[in-house]
This record gives sequence, structure tokens and C-alpha cells, in this order.
Amino acid sequence: MKQKAIYFRASPELASRVKEQAAKKGVSASAAVAELVEVGLEFVDKQGTIEDLKKSLEQERHARSIAEGEVQRLRREKQQIQEETGRNLRMLQDSYNGLLGHLRVTDLAVCPSCRQILSAYDVIIQRRCSQCSIAVSLGSVADPQRPGPLIRDLLAVVGGIAVFAGIVNALSNRDSA
Ligand SMILES: [Zn+2]
Repeated sequence: MKQKAIYFRASPELASRVKEQAAKKGVSASAAVAELVEVGLEFVDKQGTIEDLKKSLEQERHARSIAEGEVQRLRREKQQIQEETGRNLRMLQDSYNGLLGHLRVTDLAVCPSCRQILSAYDVIIQRRCSQCSIAVSLGSVADPQRPGPLIRDLLAVVGGIAVFAGIVNALSNRDSA
């Protein structure tokens, strides 16, 4: 391989360090300098790549910290929603249970079969006489020609109760899912 000579001035300290290095490696000072220059150049070349790498790592770290923050935020939001849903559900269940309790103590009609007094709960929710188990409905126990005021009111809320029960059921299922 054809070689070219490069001359440069160096401080006495640098010159003696080059000689030390050459002696350690058992090569000539010229060979030691050539090797060091080569290593140095390679290092300078790679420096740019290392800077780029550092920068992209930094960006990646930054993006990750933002994403983690977002995950934390969404997690907190989800928990808040779950807590709120739980509270609403308990409230709905409480009022639903209250409504059922109210229907249980409201005497509504008399069983056409066994003459047992039927509560609103028997007629609207169970749709069965609690004593003889005959199927009953508002239509079968109420006189359609002369519906009493209570029956009229109850007829108006029967649809509402069905929807209400549906909502409570849907929420219960979603909450336990
Ligand atoms: Zn009965």
C-alpha cells in the first residue's frame, strides 16, 4: 500500500505521550500516530450519529412520558366514571327497591279466584296471586268500565316501571361486566 507522509507540530507533552503509546504497543511512533488519527477520525464521524441517536432517544423518552401521562389520565377518568356509575346505580336500585316496597303495601284488588287481597306488587310485578298462584293482570282484576283513581294512576306508571326495571338491569349487568 502506498503511504503518504503528514507532518505536524506537537507539544513536547503530546510527543512524549505518542512515544509512550508506541512503546506500549510495540510499534513505531509514526504507526502509533497513524492509528490514533484513524481512531480519532472514526470517532468524529460517529459523533454526529451518536448525537442524532441521543436526540431521538430523548424524543422517544419525551413521547413516552406524554403517553404515560395520558394513560394515567384516562385511567383516572375511567375510575371516576365507574364510581359515578356505581353511585347512580345504587341510587336507582334504592329508588327501585323503594318503589317495589311501596307496591307491596298497596292493596290493589281482590283475586278473582281465591278472593285474597292482591297488592300492586302481585298484580304489576309478579302478575300472580300470592295465595293461589293464578295469573293476574291489571286488565283481569280492574273493572275497565269504572277504573278507580288508584288503578288509573298505576296504569299510567306501569310502562314507566318496566322501563325503569330495564335500566336498572342494564346498568347492573354493565357494572358487573
Ligand atoms: Zn288467588
